[in-house]
Amino acid sequence: YLCAHGAAGTFAAPTNTRELRQLIELHPQARLVAGATDVGLWISKRHQRFAAVIHLGSVSELQRIEHSEDTLEIGAAVTLADAFAALAALAPDLGVLLRRFGSPQVRGQASIGGNIANGSPISDLAPALIALGARLRLAGPDGEREIALEDFFIDYGHQDLLPGEYVAALSIPADGHQHFRCWKISKRFDQDISAVCGAFNVQLAHGKVHEARIVFGGMAAISRRATRCEAVLKGATPGPALLPRAADALAEDYAPISDLRASAAYRRQAARGLLERYLSAMAGQPVPVLYPAATPPVNTHA
Ligand SMILES: Cc1cc2nc3c(=O)[nH]c(=O)nc-3n(C[C@H](O)[C@H](O)[C@H](O)COP(=O)(O)OP(=O)(O)OC[C@H]3O[C@@H](n4cnc5c(N)ncnc54)[C@H](O)[C@@H]3O)c2cc1C
Repeated sequence: YLCAHGAAGTFAAPTNTRELRQLIELHPQARLVAGATDVGLWISKRHQRFAAVIHLGSVSELQRIEHSEDTLEIGAAVTLADAFAALAALAPDLGVLLRRFGSPQVRGQASIGGNIANGSPISDLAPALIALGARLRLAGPDGEREIALEDFFIDYGHQDLLPGEYVAALSIPADGHQHFRCWKISKRFDQDISAVCGAFNVQLAHGKVHEARIVFGGMAAISRRATRCEAVLKGATPGPALLPRAADALAEDYAPISDLRASAAYRRQAARGLLERYLSAMAGQPVPVLYPAATPPVNTHA
């Protein structure tokens, strides 16, 4: 595999997980890099330097997309462009979300694993994937373990990743997403990070909600579930009549901050609006399409 040493440090691009594990053991402080769409900015804007960089983009096992009867598994180094078709087929709103992720150039570089491992509270994929019930496969010196994606995010900048571990793959249940919806609110259509991103997924039994996953990004230090709001929906017939109680619960779930993307008040209002939109859609009421230009989602390779 490619390995270059110089005055600035070491760069290595392993081709399989055996080489990757050896390199991580040899350079425990190395910065893992997949698409470098985050890391590149740390270097160019924050002038960070790394004594060792391990590139994940050539590791064959991290590049796989595998469909089984009940699961879609995507390797951590798969780019958003390459994952697009599989994810959009799973849930059309996910296709719209991906279509609005960065730009074609960013989607061609950025990896699924990078968008999760960076632990960003405004990662676009995290809320949607948690709502879809995604799980993470983590690999490290002591073997592999699997955790629910929602448990990976512990606090701002703190993920459940042990020394020497890396994100190997993401798996998503293949079914159960008929009622999945997600919407990203940002100032621009393209090339903008979310102010708020809301993802909703309920399972119905006899017309009533028996499982609810409601997840927001941009509303807390991490993407996390709105458990109080979910509790209001459980056992109820989803529809606008639930809005007053569900919105009150949602307001209890999060204490958003004000920053350059949006004020706390705007975030609260936008989140409430997305909840209203979801409940209306669940009652079969027409909800205006937020982003006509992204519906139906276009192929990200185009
Ligand atoms: C112009 C621009 C537009 C953007 N638009 C959006 C947007 O719309 N929505 C959005 O959510 N983000 C956006 N981003 C942010 C960025 O593109 C994503 O977070 C991207 O998915 C990161 O993936 P990457 O492969 O480039 O990660 P990298 O930059 O390579 O790595 C990011 C972090 O994850 C770690 N890492 C990467 N892979 C692994 C792994 N397998 N295991 C453990 N750690 C790992 C790295 O060590 C690093 O800490 C944008 C960025 C730019 C520059």
